[in-house]
Amino acid sequence: MSDCLFCKIAAKKIPAGIIYEDDLALAFEDINPQAPVHTLIIPKKHIPTALEITKEDHGLIGHLFQTAAKIAGDKGIGEKGFRLVMNTNADAGQTVFHVHLHLLGGRTMHWPPG
Ligand code: 5GP
Ligand code: ZN
Repeated sequence: MSDCLFCKIAAKKIPAGIIYEDDLALAFEDINPQAPVHTLIIPKKHIPTALEITKEDHGLIGHLFQTAAKIAGDKGIGEKGFRLVMNTNADAGQTVFHVHLHLLGGRTMHWPPG
């Protein structure tokens, strides 16, 4: 999608701190980190929100989780713990309408979330 920020990052039209890339997914550092580790993991395919995930995307979404877990391990927060978040629509505070996992860690997380 030409007007999507994360599609532009995936196409390298906008710079980002990319730390991982493969055929299906991209991971880059959040521009406004909310924790010592705050990485975004996105599919290269444009999917606006979790509501548009279809059966054909199941493998892709699983790949996002596996990629996030691998990055957590590489960043040394696997054992201590981390949080994976996919905000969806207004009440959750979604601001970029291209699905992404937030990988948050490096500090104690609180529950319930704000
Ligand atoms: P959402 O609020 O949609 O769940 O998450 C969007 C995230 O994208 C936010 O945490 C925000 O800081 C991050 N973000 C917004 N614009 C950019 C950008 O241009 N570059 C990077 N690296 N992150 C961005
Ligand atoms: Zn997109």
